[in-house]
Amino acid sequence: MPVGTQASVKSLTPSDLRTAGTQILLANTYHLSLRPGHERIATLGGLHRFMGWDGPILTDSGGFQVFSLAHLSRVDDDGVTFASHLDGSSQRLTPERAIEIQEALGSDIAMAFDQLVDATLPAREVAVAMARTHAWAERCLAARSRTDQALFGIVQGGVDEGLRRESAAAIAGMAFDGIAIGGLSVGESKDQMAAALEVVGEALGEDPRVRYLMGVGSPPDFFGAVERGIDLFDCVLPTRVARNGQVWTRAGKLNLRNARFLDDPGPIDPECRCEACRNHSRAYLAHLFRAEELLAYRLSSVHNVTYTLDLMEQIRGALADGSFASLREVVAAQFSSAGPGR
Ligand SMILES: [Zn+2]
Repeated sequence: MPVGTQASVKSLTPSDLRTAGTQILLANTYHLSLRPGHERIATLGGLHRFMGWDGPILTDSGGFQVFSLAHLSRVDDDGVTFASHLDGSSQRLTPERAIEIQEALGSDIAMAFDQLVDATLPAREVAVAMARTHAWAERCLAARSRTDQALFGIVQGGVDEGLRRESAAAIAGMAFDGIAIGGLSVGESKDQMAAALEVVGEALGEDPRVRYLMGVGSPPDFFGAVERGIDLFDCVLPTRVARNGQVWTRAGKLNLRNARFLDDPGPIDPECRCEACRNHSRAYLAHLFRAEELLAYRLSSVHNVTYTLDLMEQIRGALADGSFASLREVVAAQFSSAGPGR
C-alpha cells in the first residue's frame, strides 16, 4: 500500500497510482481527523469521493502517531490524550473514538486502536502496553457498527518472543477480519524483526486471515516477511526517499542529485515501464532536482511506487514458480551497500 497520509500520496494523482499498479492505499486517521476533519469528509461523501480514489482504502487507527508524538501524549487505560501537532489543542483518542472516525471516513479496512511502545523498553512495560492493546481490541470490535468495513486487529509485544506469541494468540482469538503485526520497524534490529515474525507466524499457524506487517519496508525487507507469511505492507519509504532524489532500480539505489547523472542520457531504469523511465533521462531528473522543480518529486515518486509494486508482483510470481530464493538474492545484491550504482 502506498501511503497517503493526508488523503494524498504525495505528488501523485489517483491516475498515477492506478497506472503504477496500486491495488489499495493507506490513509491516516490521526491526520484526517484533525484536518480537514472526518465529519467534513463524511459530509462530502466519504474518503473515496473526497480524494477521487475508487479503489480500496485502509485507514490506520492513529496508534502510530500517538507513539511518534509520545512527548505530546498521555496514555491511560481508557485512551490517549494528546496535543494536536497543528495547533496544540488537546485531543482525545479512545478505541471507540478511533472506530467512529474510521467509520465516518468510510475506509474499506479499519484498524483497531493499539498502543505501541519502543520495542527496546523493559519487557514489563511492553507487557502493560500489550495488555492494553488487547483490551482496546475487544472494545474496537464492540464499537463497530458498519457491516461494510473490515476491521483488523494488531499484534503487539515488542521484541520479546513470549509476549509476541501471547499477543498473536490473543488477537487471533478475536473476531477480526485480518491480523496486523505492529510495533516493528521502530528501531529494532533486522534479526529481532525476523524473530518476532517467526514467532507470530508459528502462533497463527494455518489461520487463513490476511496478515499485514505495518510500516515495512524497503525492497530487501519484503522477502523475509513474505517468507514468514505476510501478505500486505505499507511504507512511506518509496515516496519519501524519492522526494530526496533516491530512486530504486535494478542497478541498485541511485541518488539523482549526484553530479554524475547530469550528463547521463539513459532512463532511471531501462527495464521500468513507468512514465518517468519511458519519457525522461537521468540527466533531466538530475536537472529538475537541482532546479527544485516540482516535476522532480512527481516523476521520482511515480518511478519508486511503480518499482515497488512491480517487485511485489515479481515476488508473487516467484512464489508461484519456485524462484523466490533466487529473486531474493538478486534484490539483496542490488540493495547491498556494496552494490552497483550508489
Ligand atoms: Zn521507472
